[in-house]
Amino acid sequence: MQTLNSEITQQDTIRVSALHALAYCPRLFYLEEVEELYTQDAAVFAGRRLHAELEKQEDEDWEELFLKSEELGLRGRVDALRTRDGKTIPYEHKRGRCHRDEKKQPQAWESDKLQILAYACLIESALGIPIEEGRIRYHADNVLVRVPLDEAGRAAVREAIQQALKLRQSPHRPPVTDNERLCTRCSLAPVCLPEEARLAHNREWQPLRLFPKDDERQIVHVLEPGTVVGRTGEQLKLTRRGQPVETLPVRQVGQLVLHSFSQISTQALHFCAGQEIGVHFISGGGRYIGSFDTRQGSIQRRIRQYGALCNAETCLTLARKLVMCRAQGQRKFLMRGQRGRKDVEGLRKAIAQMKAVLKQVPKAQSLDSLLGLEGNLAALYFGALPALVSDSVASELHFGGRNRRPPKDRFNSLIGFGYALLLKDVMNAILTVGLEPALGFYHQPRSQTPPLALDLMEIFRVPLVDMPVMASINKNQWDAKADFDIRGGQVWLSDAGRRKLVSVYERRKEESWKHPVTGYSLTYRRLLELEVRLLEKEWSGEGGLFGQLVVR
Ligand code: SF4
Repeated sequence: MQTLNSEITQQDTIRVSALHALAYCPRLFYLEEVEELYTQDAAVFAGRRLHAELEKQEDEDWEELFLKSEELGLRGRVDALRTRDGKTIPYEHKRGRCHRDEKKQPQAWESDKLQILAYACLIESALGIPIEEGRIRYHADNVLVRVPLDEAGRAAVREAIQQALKLRQSPHRPPVTDNERLCTRCSLAPVCLPEEARLAHNREWQPLRLFPKDDERQIVHVLEPGTVVGRTGEQLKLTRRGQPVETLPVRQVGQLVLHSFSQISTQALHFCAGQEIGVHFISGGGRYIGSFDTRQGSIQRRIRQYGALCNAETCLTLARKLVMCRAQGQRKFLMRGQRGRKDVEGLRKAIAQMKAVLKQVPKAQSLDSLLGLEGNLAALYFGALPALVSDSVASELHFGGRNRRPPKDRFNSLIGFGYALLLKDVMNAILTVGLEPALGFYHQPRSQTPPLALDLMEIFRVPLVDMPVMASINKNQWDAKADFDIRGGQVWLSDAGRRKLVSVYERRKEESWKHPVTGYSLTYRRLLELEVRLLEKEWSGEGGLFGQLVVR
């Protein structure tokens, strides 16, 4: 076998499965190998189940082989190795169907072909056994395809390794593939967002929704002080004082939110980290304390973020979008509040004044002038907000103006806790996407709260907190005594009140919203993550879709 140059032998080896990804789509290779993004979608799980089943059917030919060849620059696990008529043959098992040529003859898919050829070359290089062919079994149509290893095949493997090594050194993410059909079957489509990238380049494009509409995993709020979260087998175990133990299968949990003085064991924390379950902490007073950050990798993403957000012009452009997005949402909310009311003069005035200030936002020449405009908009919004509270609501629950730390009235204690829950969700999305929360583009690092989280919260404050809280007040869902805890001039939510607000907030997140630019609907819960991914595209050459969430 021809050897590769010494440059390759000094590098880490490439996984054979990474070559499979490269042949499928270079961007897929880059996302997995350089940006270290993986998703555990249904197809991946099904593939793993197939391999587990095959391992149970082990016969005398079966060998589970982990091989590495520094000379070749490859490593990987061969599915099966069998001897037939004195010849050694590697086998690869695929869950799906084979490719059919024009004459409907079964063929291997190009990426599968490269993969089995790479295994064949790896066996020759690592074990010194000559290989004449590899075989791929497609289980969905029960077809066996033979792939001969000839000089052309060896050259294709060598060329793919060199391309992979080059791409691994590149700071540039490859463009999306021209073959859209590949994307509909790609496990990384929800993080790659190929349709949104196409839309960014061509505003006439009508994107398919490859981003999941909803996340059906539960967000578990542990609200009772003294509750202990542990692990038992593949389940999380919740032990509450004086109550039966509750167990939750780990696949059903998306986030664990520990309020007040609830506890979590080290084993459960490790388990959550391994299963990509977000773990967040909120104080008994309703303040967001922090999140368990288990990010590994995604260094390239953060380097790109640092590069982009060190540019003052980029930050100003993004900040303008953000201020527009939030203020337009606030204004639309006030406009909705006019419906069915008699005395709307004050509201009308605030709405008109906001419109005038909004016109100045795109012309703001610095973050300071933008802050000034945002302050004016916030004053107009919160000044008009009391008019949205219905006359039938108890006077204790009316809104007299924004105050915080500590909240001085019931309305402020409700939206204050709502914003803490929102901050937790925005942090969860930032950590999921792999960005650096400490580096934002608008807010400055003056408080303990990470600036990027404060930036992104602006988009969601009105739809996820202000609107559902106002609706719950106007529906008289709050008990002015039982749901609140008054201590001197401070007003906190009682245990019952916190439980009720968590429910109001989580229900709102399950509602769907149609994105005005992409044209598809998804839940607010998914929108939180989509918006962070769209932000990341702003500095990755696929921008223009971030910050469009305006209340209708
Ligand atoms: S979604 Fe499409 S463009 Fe993105 S990695 Fe997958 S195949 Fe490539």
